Amino acid sequence: MPVIDEDFIFAELDHLRAHVKIAVNKRAKRLALRLDSKDRKIRFTIPPRYPIKKARLFLLQNESWVLGNIDKLPPLIPLTHGQIIPVFGHDRRINISYDITLKRTDITLNKNEIIIKTNKDDPTPRLVRFLKKEAEKELTRLTKEKAAQIDKTVAAVQVRDTKSRWGSCGHDSKISFSWRLIFAPHTVLDYVVAHEVAHLQHMDHSRAFWACCKSLCEDYTYGKSWLHENGNELMRYDA
Ligand SMILES: [Zn+2]
Repeated sequence: MPVIDEDFIFAELDHLRAHVKIAVNKRAKRLALRLDSKDRKIRFTIPPRYPIKKARLFLLQNESWVLGNIDKLPPLIPLTHGQIIPVFGHDRRINISYDITLKRTDITLNKNEIIIKTNKDDPTPRLVRFLKKEAEKELTRLTKEKAAQIDKTVAAVQVRDTKSRWGSCGHDSKISFSWRLIFAPHTVLDYVVAHEVAHLQHMDHSRAFWACCKSLCEDYTYGKSWLHENGNELMRYDA
């Protein structure tokens, strides 16, 4: 795939760089701009070998459309003191106390709060690491439990910050999930795990696959439609 000179495209349009993702697509016949609300970016599709000056001009002409659409996105939710965030389906308030004498950041999750005791000015990266770890623990537990129900073993469970999929299952029996599922109701996690575990049995979306998925998660249609309707919300947490 030919490489696009992004510096040329964004010359004097540097303020658009953070919001626009350039995608050279060999099947594309013309230039196109599309809002990807999950990625919170505008996707700029360019056909291969398209004249770069024309592509740049097109972006210039659509500058206000790009900024307008980015502006209309629901704002990011900061993971800062006082913010209430759902963790495994329960709202919890982030409670940060700063103490310079502390040697390390200590984070505990209780029923209504995430308590952070820290010596750091900005403990958000620590909190994100903590949440990823919690997501990984719970997703791993559920995955092993469901795999055992159908006499399968999973080679590895990983969490990632994927933008396009909530979960995936490889031919090597390795399963990955988006850590952002931690912000979804627990029944939704349960569905995503059931879906990926069912792929250990059926590598397609056949009727047999959905029957297997249902046997692992009775409420799978709820999780499926919840993600369809609310999935973008999970991308709003600023991490
Ligand atoms: Zn699938």
